[in-house]
Amino acid sequence: MVERRGQLVSRVALVSGGNRGIGLAAVEGLARAGLTVVLGARDFADGQAALERLAAAAESVRVAQLDVTDEASIDRCIAEVERELGRLDVLVNNAGVLLDSGGPATDPDLEAVRATLDVNLFGAWALTRRSLAPLRASGDGRVVNVSSGMGQLTEMGGRSPGYRLSKVGLNALTRMLAAELAGEVSVNSVCPGWVRTDMGGAGAGRSPAEGADTIVWLATLPSRETPTGTFLRDRKPIPW
Ligand code: NAP
Repeated sequence: MVERRGQLVSRVALVSGGNRGIGLAAVEGLARAGLTVVLGARDFADGQAALERLAAAAESVRVAQLDVTDEASIDRCIAEVERELGRLDVLVNNAGVLLDSGGPATDPDLEAVRATLDVNLFGAWALTRRSLAPLRASGDGRVVNVSSGMGQLTEMGGRSPGYRLSKVGLNALTRMLAAELAGEVSVNSVCPGWVRTDMGGAGAGRSPAEGADTIVWLATLPSRETPTGTFLRDRKPIPW
């Protein structure tokens, strides 16, 4: 809880791509942790349907239409958060696509690469830029970028080039923003592991809640213990 105009209010988090998968699990985890959560959904009706399926803590979740590739949608969403909730403390850049799974870098589908970068990198970047004023005003603003081990340069292999590049770029963005926002807003990348979602498939080892664990942890750690400019999996740093 934080004080606003003499009253105690909850911290506010926004999760992009909050209507399914890891995003929905992050919404639930953050709400259970006592935050007011804005479930960003590209399709508002999908967001409402997801909210109806949320058993726990659903009363502290609200849905906002949010397509991270659409600047007007981003602007409307953040303006609505500012107007109706009066603050934004945590931004989870979770929305993502995997459009060139298994495709070769030697013969890329560049249209798929561009479309992937549009969501996973430029979408997160544009949403973060629009969120910075309220995040700075929070006094303890946090950005959590949902990245992937497929973006680790130290582990880089072939295949899925658009997806890999998008996460390498997102990790670089984490470092740049953490440097520019030092002392104001923390910015970290998280690899959720291999998670059973539409993207991860049924064979993945982790549940969406397990995938969201480090995201929720970073968003709710005491301020003085919150790192910045790191890349984490299972609450521990991993190589870039
Ligand atoms: P998912 O089940 O496919 O869900 C993706 C979410 O992103 C959906 O809510 C989708 O919305 C949303 N989205 C896509 N394009 C969007 C746009 N333009 N604007 C707003 N939202 C958009 O995927 P997931 O497995 O939960 O993945 C979530 C994040 O974790 C991604 O960034 C992914 O790269 C990362 N990740 C996943 C795994 C894994 O094993 N699953 C591993 C490493 C990293 P719609 O429903 O409207 O399509």
